Amino acid sequence: MSTTLVSTSKVEQMRNHFFYETFNVAKRDSPFYRNLYKTIELEGKDYRKDLQKLPLIDSDTIIKNQSAITVNNLDLQTHHRTGGTTGHVPILIHRSKQEAEMRDEVASLAFQGGKEKKLVVLILDVFHGYPWIPRSSNLYTACFTIFSFNEATEFLTNRPPIPGVESDVESIYGSLDNLKRLTHFLLGKGIDPKTLHVKHLVSNGFYVPKKWREVLQRIWGAKLIDIYAISEILGNIGQCLSCGAYHPSPSVVAEVVSIDNHSPIKQGTGLLVLTALYPFQQSFPLLRYNTGDLFEITEQKCVDIPLAPKGRFSRSVYVRLSEAPNVCFVPSSDIADLIEEIPDINRGMVFAGPQKAVFLDDLSWEFPRFSVQTNAKAEKPVVRFNLELNYDPVLYPSRIAEIGKVITEGLCKRSSSFEESLREGLISFENSFLPPNSIPWDEVFER
Ligand SMILES: [Zn+2]
Repeated sequence: MSTTLVSTSKVEQMRNHFFYETFNVAKRDSPFYRNLYKTIELEGKDYRKDLQKLPLIDSDTIIKNQSAITVNNLDLQTHHRTGGTTGHVPILIHRSKQEAEMRDEVASLAFQGGKEKKLVVLILDVFHGYPWIPRSSNLYTACFTIFSFNEATEFLTNRPPIPGVESDVESIYGSLDNLKRLTHFLLGKGIDPKTLHVKHLVSNGFYVPKKWREVLQRIWGAKLIDIYAISEILGNIGQCLSCGAYHPSPSVVAEVVSIDNHSPIKQGTGLLVLTALYPFQQSFPLLRYNTGDLFEITEQKCVDIPLAPKGRFSRSVYVRLSEAPNVCFVPSSDIADLIEEIPDINRGMVFAGPQKAVFLDDLSWEFPRFSVQTNAKAEKPVVRFNLELNYDPVLYPSRIAEIGKVITEGLCKRSSSFEESLREGLISFENSFLPPNSIPWDEVFER
Protein backbone atom coordinates (compact mmCIF):
# COMPACT_ATOMS: atom_id res chain seq x y z
CA MET A 1 0.00 0.00 0.00
CA SER A 2 1.53 3.32 -0.98
CA THR A 3 0.94 6.52 0.89
CA THR A 4 1.03 9.95 -0.62
CA LEU A 5 1.86 12.70 1.80
CA VAL A 6 -0.15 15.80 1.04
CA SER A 7 0.58 18.88 3.07
CA THR A 8 -2.07 19.79 5.60
CA SER A 9 -2.54 23.19 4.06
CA LYS A 10 -3.41 21.65 0.65
CA VAL A 11 -5.90 19.28 2.25
CA GLU A 12 -7.33 22.08 4.35
CA GLN A 13 -7.75 24.29 1.25
CA MET A 14 -9.58 21.44 -0.40
CA ARG A 15 -11.80 20.88 2.65
CA ASN A 16 -12.51 24.60 2.82
CA HIS A 17 -13.71 24.57 -0.78
CA PHE A 18 -15.77 21.40 -0.43
CA PHE A 19 -17.31 22.40 2.89
CA TYR A 20 -19.18 25.36 1.43
CA GLU A 21 -20.35 23.23 -1.47
CA THR A 22 -21.51 20.60 1.03
CA PHE A 23 -23.45 23.21 3.01
CA ASN A 24 -25.08 24.73 -0.07
CA VAL A 25 -26.02 21.44 -1.68
CA ALA A 26 -27.43 20.03 1.58
CA LYS A 27 -29.54 23.15 2.06
CA ARG A 28 -30.75 23.03 -1.53
CA ASP A 29 -31.47 19.30 -1.92
CA SER A 30 -32.23 17.88 1.53
CA PRO A 31 -35.52 18.97 3.18
CA PHE A 32 -34.03 18.28 6.61
CA TYR A 33 -31.11 20.70 6.21
CA ARG A 34 -33.24 23.27 4.39
CA ASN A 35 -35.24 23.55 7.58
CA LEU A 36 -32.35 23.15 10.03
CA TYR A 37 -30.21 25.87 8.40
CA LYS A 38 -33.10 28.25 7.64
CA THR A 39 -31.68 31.13 9.66
CA ILE A 40 -27.97 30.30 9.42
CA GLU A 41 -25.71 32.61 7.43
CA LEU A 42 -22.09 31.65 6.79
CA GLU A 43 -19.26 34.09 6.16
CA GLY A 44 -17.80 31.82 3.50
CA LYS A 45 -14.10 32.31 4.17
CA ASP A 46 -12.85 30.12 7.00
CA TYR A 47 -14.79 26.87 7.18
CA ARG A 48 -13.48 25.92 10.63
CA LYS A 49 -15.05 29.12 11.98
CA ASP A 50 -18.30 28.77 10.03
CA LEU A 51 -18.61 25.14 11.08
CA GLN A 52 -19.29 26.26 14.66
CA LYS A 53 -22.52 27.93 13.56
CA LEU A 54 -24.05 24.59 12.61
CA PRO A 55 -25.81 22.52 15.29
CA LEU A 56 -24.61 18.98 16.01
CA ILE A 57 -26.80 16.11 14.96
CA ASP A 58 -26.65 12.59 16.36
CA SER A 59 -27.93 9.11 15.57
CA ASP A 60 -31.34 9.84 17.15
CA THR A 61 -31.72 12.79 14.77
CA ILE A 62 -30.89 10.50 11.85
CA ILE A 63 -33.35 7.81 12.94
CA LYS A 64 -36.16 10.35 13.27
CA ASN A 65 -35.38 12.14 9.97
CA GLN A 66 -34.09 9.44 7.64
CA SER A 67 -36.26 10.26 4.66
CA ALA A 68 -36.06 14.06 5.11
CA ILE A 69 -32.26 13.89 5.13
CA THR A 70 -32.05 11.74 1.97
CA VAL A 71 -31.52 13.57 -1.32
CA ASN A 72 -33.94 12.09 -3.82
CA ASN A 73 -32.76 13.50 -7.13
CA LEU A 74 -29.92 10.98 -7.42
CA ASP A 75 -29.66 7.55 -8.95
CA LEU A 76 -30.05 5.60 -5.69
CA GLN A 77 -28.92 2.06 -6.15
CA THR A 78 -27.98 0.53 -2.84
CA HIS A 79 -28.41 1.05 0.83
CA HIS A 80 -26.77 -0.19 3.94
CA ARG A 81 -28.07 -0.61 7.41
CA THR A 82 -26.45 0.17 10.69
CA GLY A 83 -27.50 -0.27 14.30
CA GLY A 84 -29.93 -3.12 13.68
CA THR A 85 -27.69 -5.80 15.18
CA THR A 86 -27.55 -4.10 18.56
CA GLY A 87 -31.32 -4.12 18.94
CA HIS A 88 -31.65 -0.42 18.11
CA VAL A 89 -33.76 0.90 15.27
CA PRO A 90 -31.73 0.25 12.12
CA ILE A 91 -30.72 3.21 10.02
CA LEU A 92 -31.12 2.57 6.30
CA ILE A 93 -28.83 4.80 4.31
CA HIS A 94 -29.07 4.98 0.54
CA ARG A 95 -26.07 5.41 -1.68
CA SER A 96 -25.96 6.53 -5.29
CA LYS A 97 -24.10 5.21 -8.32
CA GLN A 98 -21.94 8.37 -8.36
CA GLU A 99 -20.81 7.81 -4.77
CA ALA A 100 -19.89 4.18 -5.48
CA GLU A 101 -17.84 5.22 -8.51
CA MET A 102 -16.04 7.89 -6.50
CA ARG A 103 -15.20 5.39 -3.78
CA ASP A 104 -13.73 3.01 -6.34
CA GLU A 105 -11.62 5.83 -7.74
CA VAL A 106 -10.29 6.75 -4.29
CA ALA A 107 -9.44 3.06 -3.71
CA SER A 108 -7.59 2.96 -7.03
CA LEU A 109 -5.40 5.88 -5.98
CA ALA A 110 -4.34 4.10 -2.81
CA PHE A 111 -3.14 1.06 -4.75
CA GLN A 112 -1.63 2.61 -7.85
CA GLY A 113 1.96 2.25 -8.93
CA GLY A 114 2.79 -1.43 -9.47
CA LYS A 115 3.09 -3.28 -12.78
CA GLU A 116 0.79 -6.00 -11.52
CA LYS A 117 -2.50 -5.71 -9.69
CA LYS A 118 -2.41 -5.86 -5.91
CA LEU A 119 -4.09 -8.90 -4.40
CA VAL A 120 -6.39 -8.18 -1.49
CA VAL A 121 -8.61 -10.54 0.45
CA LEU A 122 -11.84 -9.18 1.86
CA ILE A 123 -13.77 -10.83 4.70
CA LEU A 124 -17.19 -9.33 4.12
CA ASP A 125 -19.39 -8.53 7.04
CA VAL A 126 -22.65 -10.26 6.23
CA PHE A 127 -24.86 -8.53 8.77
CA HIS A 128 -23.72 -4.97 9.00
CA GLY A 129 -22.22 -2.00 7.21
CA TYR A 130 -21.88 -0.93 3.63
CA PRO A 131 -21.68 -3.88 1.21
CA TRP A 132 -18.86 -2.41 -0.83
CA ILE A 133 -16.34 -4.38 -2.81
CA PRO A 134 -13.69 -2.12 -4.34
CA ARG A 135 -13.53 -2.34 -8.12
CA SER A 136 -10.36 -0.98 -9.63
CA SER A 137 -7.91 -1.71 -12.39
CA ASN A 138 -5.17 -1.70 -9.71
CA LEU A 139 -6.79 -4.34 -7.52
CA TYR A 140 -7.75 -7.98 -7.57
CA THR A 141 -10.18 -8.61 -4.71
CA ALA A 142 -11.01 -12.06 -3.41
CA CYS A 143 -14.13 -11.99 -1.21
CA PHE A 144 -15.12 -14.39 1.52
CA THR A 145 -17.45 -14.33 4.50
CA ILE A 146 -17.28 -15.99 7.89
CA PHE A 147 -19.36 -18.79 6.32
CA SER A 148 -16.68 -19.51 3.71
CA PHE A 149 -13.51 -19.74 5.79
CA ASN A 150 -12.80 -23.16 4.24
CA GLU A 151 -12.67 -21.54 0.80
CA ALA A 152 -10.62 -18.61 2.17
CA THR A 153 -8.14 -21.10 3.65
CA GLU A 154 -7.92 -22.97 0.36
CA PHE A 155 -7.28 -19.68 -1.48
CA LEU A 156 -4.65 -18.45 0.97
CA THR A 157 -2.73 -21.72 1.19
CA ASN A 158 -2.84 -22.94 -2.46
CA ARG A 159 -2.93 -19.57 -4.13
CA PRO A 160 -3.27 -20.31 -7.85
CA PRO A 161 -1.24 -17.94 -10.05
CA ILE A 162 -3.53 -15.26 -11.48
CA PRO A 163 -2.17 -13.56 -14.64
CA GLY A 164 -1.25 -9.91 -14.04
CA VAL A 165 -1.75 -10.16 -10.27
CA GLU A 166 0.97 -10.08 -7.60
CA SER A 167 1.45 -13.44 -5.91
CA ASP A 168 1.66 -12.20 -2.30
CA VAL A 169 -1.46 -10.97 -0.53
CA GLU A 170 -1.07 -7.23 0.01
CA SER A 171 -3.78 -6.98 2.67
CA ILE A 172 -6.58 -8.87 4.32
CA TYR A 173 -9.47 -6.53 5.08
CA GLY A 174 -12.11 -7.24 7.66
CA SER A 175 -13.63 -6.20 10.95
CA LEU A 176 -11.41 -6.94 13.93
CA ASP A 177 -13.79 -9.76 14.94
CA ASN A 178 -13.60 -11.40 11.54
CA LEU A 179 -9.80 -11.09 11.35
CA LYS A 180 -9.62 -12.81 14.74
CA ARG A 181 -12.03 -15.54 13.61
CA LEU A 182 -10.06 -16.19 10.41
CA THR A 183 -6.80 -16.40 12.36
CA HIS A 184 -8.36 -18.78 14.88
CA PHE A 185 -9.76 -20.90 12.06
CA LEU A 186 -6.38 -21.18 10.32
CA LEU A 187 -4.61 -22.10 13.56
CA GLY A 188 -7.29 -24.74 14.17
CA LYS A 189 -6.41 -26.27 10.77
CA GLY A 190 -2.74 -26.42 11.77
CA ILE A 191 -1.76 -23.60 9.40
CA ASP A 192 0.87 -21.08 10.48
CA PRO A 193 -0.42 -17.71 9.17
CA LYS A 194 3.20 -16.47 8.87
CA THR A 195 3.75 -18.91 6.00
CA LEU A 196 1.03 -17.12 3.97
CA HIS A 197 3.23 -13.97 3.52
CA VAL A 198 0.43 -11.45 4.02
CA LYS A 199 1.84 -7.93 4.30
CA HIS A 200 -0.98 -6.10 6.11
CA LEU A 201 -4.06 -6.84 8.12
CA VAL A 202 -6.52 -3.98 7.76
CA SER A 203 -9.18 -3.82 10.44
CA ASN A 204 -12.15 -1.51 10.44
CA GLY A 205 -14.93 -0.64 12.79
CA PHE A 206 -14.54 -0.95 16.52
CA TYR A 207 -11.63 -0.09 18.80
CA VAL A 208 -8.68 -2.51 18.53
CA PRO A 209 -7.52 -3.47 22.03
CA LYS A 210 -3.73 -3.44 22.50
CA LYS A 211 -3.68 -7.15 23.20
CA TRP A 212 -5.33 -8.09 19.88
CA ARG A 213 -3.12 -5.75 17.89
CA GLU A 214 -0.06 -7.45 19.38
CA VAL A 215 -1.44 -11.01 19.02
CA LEU A 216 -2.48 -10.62 15.38
CA GLN A 217 0.74 -8.90 14.30
CA ARG A 218 2.82 -11.57 16.01
CA ILE A 219 0.90 -14.53 14.59
CA TRP A 220 0.79 -13.20 11.00
CA GLY A 221 4.17 -11.46 10.97
CA ALA A 222 2.20 -8.62 9.33
CA LYS A 223 1.44 -5.05 10.25
CA LEU A 224 -2.07 -4.31 11.49
CA ILE A 225 -3.47 -1.07 10.13
CA ASP A 226 -6.67 0.03 11.77
CA ILE A 227 -9.25 2.20 10.05
CA TYR A 228 -12.00 3.84 12.06
CA ALA A 229 -15.07 3.88 9.86
CA ILE A 230 -18.80 4.12 10.44
CA SER A 231 -21.52 3.14 8.01
CA GLU A 232 -23.07 6.59 8.02
CA ILE A 233 -20.00 8.34 6.62
CA LEU A 234 -18.12 7.78 3.35
CA GLY A 235 -14.57 8.44 4.45
CA ASN A 236 -12.67 7.32 7.49
CA ILE A 237 -10.00 8.01 10.06
CA GLY A 238 -7.16 5.68 9.23
CA GLN A 239 -3.91 4.80 10.87
CA CYS A 240 -0.95 6.49 9.20
CA LEU A 241 1.92 4.31 7.99
CA SER A 242 4.37 7.16 8.63
CA CYS A 243 3.57 8.36 12.16
CA GLY A 244 1.20 5.74 13.58
CA ALA A 245 -1.44 8.31 14.54
CA TYR A 246 -4.87 8.29 12.92
CA HIS A 247 -5.69 10.97 10.33
CA PRO A 248 -9.06 11.84 8.76
CA SER A 249 -9.34 11.13 5.04
CA PRO A 250 -9.51 14.30 2.92
CA SER A 251 -13.19 13.62 2.20
CA VAL A 252 -14.22 14.28 5.80
CA VAL A 253 -13.87 17.07 8.33
CA ALA A 254 -13.07 15.76 11.80
CA GLU A 255 -13.60 17.77 14.98
CA VAL A 256 -13.05 16.70 18.57
CA VAL A 257 -15.49 18.43 20.92
CA SER A 258 -15.84 18.64 24.67
CA ILE A 259 -18.00 15.92 26.22
CA ASP A 260 -19.77 18.49 28.41
CA ASN A 261 -20.59 21.43 26.20
CA HIS A 262 -19.70 20.21 22.69
CA SER A 263 -17.31 23.09 22.01
CA PRO A 264 -14.20 22.18 19.98
CA ILE A 265 -11.10 21.26 21.99
CA LYS A 266 -7.45 21.49 20.95
CA GLN A 267 -6.04 18.85 23.29
CA GLY A 268 -7.20 15.91 25.35
CA THR A 269 -10.05 13.48 24.71
CA GLY A 270 -13.51 14.34 23.46
CA LEU A 271 -16.31 13.30 21.13
CA LEU A 272 -15.61 12.86 17.46
CA VAL A 273 -17.81 14.98 15.18
CA LEU A 274 -17.65 14.25 11.46
CA THR A 275 -18.77 16.14 8.39
CA ALA A 276 -18.91 14.13 5.17
CA LEU A 277 -17.90 16.37 2.29
CA TYR A 278 -19.71 16.75 -1.02
CA PRO A 279 -19.17 15.32 -3.67
CA PHE A 280 -17.77 12.27 -1.84
CA GLN A 281 -21.04 11.86 0.05
CA GLN A 282 -24.16 12.97 -1.78
CA SER A 283 -27.33 11.02 -1.12
CA PHE A 284 -27.28 11.18 2.69
CA PRO A 285 -25.59 14.45 3.67
CA LEU A 286 -24.19 14.46 7.19
CA LEU A 287 -22.84 17.69 8.62
CA ARG A 288 -21.47 17.88 12.15
CA TYR A 289 -22.50 14.36 13.05
CA ASN A 290 -21.74 13.44 16.65
CA THR A 291 -20.47 9.88 16.32
CA GLY A 292 -20.67 9.09 20.04
CA ASP A 293 -17.06 7.87 19.79
CA LEU A 294 -14.12 9.24 21.75
CA PHE A 295 -10.88 10.40 20.18
CA GLU A 296 -7.79 11.87 21.74
CA ILE A 297 -5.84 14.62 20.01
CA THR A 298 -2.24 13.43 20.15
CA GLU A 299 1.11 14.97 19.36
CA GLN A 300 1.47 16.39 15.85
CA LYS A 301 4.25 14.56 13.99
CA CYS A 302 2.88 14.41 10.51
CA VAL A 303 0.63 15.98 7.87
CA ASP A 304 -2.86 16.13 9.32
CA ILE A 305 -4.69 16.25 12.67
CA PRO A 306 -3.20 13.42 14.81
CA LEU A 307 -5.87 11.38 16.57
CA ALA A 308 -6.11 8.21 18.64
CA PRO A 309 -9.37 6.25 19.07
CA LYS A 310 -10.56 5.90 22.67
CA GLY A 311 -13.68 3.76 22.18
CA ARG A 312 -17.38 4.45 22.57
CA PHE A 313 -18.44 7.11 25.04
CA SER A 314 -21.49 5.08 26.15
CA ARG A 315 -19.23 2.32 27.50
CA SER A 316 -16.90 4.68 29.34
CA VAL A 317 -16.87 5.75 32.97
CA TYR A 318 -17.83 9.41 33.11
CA VAL A 319 -19.11 10.99 36.31
CA ARG A 320 -19.33 14.73 36.99
CA LEU A 321 -18.19 15.61 40.53
CA SER A 322 -18.81 18.72 42.59
CA GLU A 323 -15.19 18.88 43.79
CA ALA A 324 -11.73 18.21 42.31
CA PRO A 325 -10.97 16.37 40.03
CA ASN A 326 -14.48 17.54 38.91
CA VAL A 327 -14.89 14.57 36.64
CA CYS A 328 -14.07 10.89 36.94
CA PHE A 329 -13.28 9.67 33.45
CA VAL A 330 -12.04 6.36 32.06
CA PRO A 331 -12.46 6.06 28.27
CA SER A 332 -13.88 2.71 27.15
CA SER A 333 -10.67 1.95 25.20
CA ASP A 334 -8.75 1.83 28.48
CA ILE A 335 -11.42 -0.39 30.02
CA ALA A 336 -11.29 -2.72 27.00
CA ASP A 337 -7.47 -2.94 27.16
CA LEU A 338 -7.71 -3.92 30.82
CA ILE A 339 -10.55 -6.46 30.47
CA GLU A 340 -8.86 -8.16 27.49
CA GLU A 341 -5.94 -9.08 29.77
CA ILE A 342 -8.18 -11.16 32.05
CA PRO A 343 -8.64 -14.70 30.67
CA ASP A 344 -11.39 -15.56 33.18
CA ILE A 345 -13.93 -13.28 31.45
CA ASN A 346 -16.49 -15.20 29.42
CA ARG A 347 -16.55 -14.55 25.67
CA GLY A 348 -19.73 -13.92 23.75
CA MET A 349 -22.00 -15.52 21.26
CA VAL A 350 -21.49 -13.85 17.93
CA PHE A 351 -25.11 -13.12 17.14
CA ALA A 352 -28.26 -13.93 19.01
CA GLY A 353 -31.68 -14.60 17.52
CA PRO A 354 -32.93 -17.58 15.51
CA GLN A 355 -32.12 -16.21 12.03
CA LYS A 356 -28.77 -14.79 12.88
CA ALA A 357 -27.15 -17.30 15.19
CA VAL A 358 -23.56 -18.16 14.40
CA PHE A 359 -22.35 -20.97 16.58
CA LEU A 360 -18.65 -21.35 17.16
CA ASP A 361 -17.32 -24.30 19.12
CA ASP A 362 -14.60 -22.27 20.80
CA LEU A 363 -15.45 -18.77 21.97
CA SER A 364 -12.09 -17.89 23.48
CA TRP A 365 -11.30 -15.41 20.69
CA GLU A 366 -14.64 -13.63 20.87
CA PHE A 367 -15.68 -10.38 22.53
CA PRO A 368 -15.53 -10.35 26.37
CA ARG A 369 -18.89 -10.16 28.08
CA PHE A 370 -18.96 -7.21 30.42
CA SER A 371 -20.89 -3.99 30.87
CA VAL A 372 -20.28 -0.73 32.70
CA GLN A 373 -23.01 0.90 34.78
CA THR A 374 -22.89 4.29 36.40
CA ASN A 375 -25.32 5.72 38.89
CA ALA A 376 -24.31 9.37 38.99
CA LYS A 377 -27.46 10.41 40.84
CA ALA A 378 -26.73 8.42 43.99
CA GLU A 379 -25.56 10.49 46.97
CA LYS A 380 -22.15 9.06 46.31
CA PRO A 381 -21.92 8.15 42.61
CA VAL A 382 -21.54 4.43 41.98
CA VAL A 383 -19.54 2.87 39.16
CA ARG A 384 -20.19 -0.82 38.66
CA PHE A 385 -18.55 -3.31 36.31
CA ASN A 386 -20.64 -6.37 35.50
CA LEU A 387 -18.25 -9.13 34.51
CA GLU A 388 -19.35 -12.48 33.22
CA LEU A 389 -16.91 -15.30 34.00
CA ASN A 390 -16.16 -18.68 32.41
CA TYR A 391 -17.28 -20.27 35.66
CA ASP A 392 -19.58 -19.69 38.60
CA PRO A 393 -17.85 -17.08 40.79
CA VAL A 394 -19.17 -18.76 43.94
CA LEU A 395 -16.71 -21.61 43.33
CA TYR A 396 -13.51 -19.54 43.26
CA PRO A 397 -13.64 -16.75 45.87
CA SER A 398 -9.87 -16.22 46.09
CA ARG A 399 -9.53 -15.86 42.31
CA ILE A 400 -12.45 -13.38 42.31
CA ALA A 401 -10.60 -11.27 44.88
CA GLU A 402 -7.49 -11.32 42.69
CA ILE A 403 -9.38 -10.21 39.57
CA GLY A 404 -11.11 -7.44 41.54
CA LYS A 405 -7.70 -6.13 42.59
CA VAL A 406 -6.33 -6.29 39.05
CA ILE A 407 -9.29 -4.26 37.78
CA THR A 408 -9.17 -1.57 40.46
CA GLU A 409 -5.39 -1.17 40.15
CA GLY A 410 -5.59 -1.22 36.35
CA LEU A 411 -8.19 1.55 36.29
CA CYS A 412 -6.20 3.66 38.76
CA LYS A 413 -3.06 3.21 36.66
CA ARG A 414 -4.83 4.24 33.46
CA SER A 415 -6.83 7.18 34.81
CA SER A 416 -5.58 9.70 37.35
CA SER A 417 -9.10 11.11 37.78
CA PHE A 418 -10.42 7.65 38.65
CA GLU A 419 -7.57 7.11 41.11
CA GLU A 420 -8.18 10.47 42.77
CA SER A 421 -11.98 10.05 42.90
CA LEU A 422 -11.60 6.66 44.55
CA ARG A 423 -8.86 7.78 46.96
CA GLU A 424 -10.85 10.84 48.05
CA GLY A 425 -13.99 8.74 48.50
CA LEU A 426 -15.93 10.71 45.85
CA ILE A 427 -17.18 7.58 44.09
CA SER A 428 -17.91 3.97 44.98
CA PHE A 429 -16.51 1.31 42.72
CA GLU A 430 -17.96 -2.19 42.62
CA ASN A 431 -17.31 -5.30 40.56
CA SER A 432 -20.19 -7.66 40.07
CA PHE A 433 -18.97 -11.12 39.04
CA LEU A 434 -21.55 -13.24 37.26
CA PRO A 435 -21.78 -16.85 36.02
CA PRO A 436 -21.83 -17.53 32.24
CA ASN A 437 -24.75 -16.11 30.19
CA SER A 438 -25.90 -13.53 32.75
CA ILE A 439 -25.48 -10.33 30.77
CA PRO A 440 -27.96 -9.71 27.92
CA TRP A 441 -26.24 -9.98 24.57
CA ASP A 442 -27.15 -6.49 23.32
CA GLU A 443 -25.57 -4.94 26.43
CA VAL A 444 -22.35 -6.76 25.63
CA PHE A 445 -22.30 -5.91 21.97
CA GLU A 446 -23.07 -2.20 22.25
CA ARG A 447 -19.48 -1.05 22.21
ZN1 LIG B 1 0.90 10.57 10.05
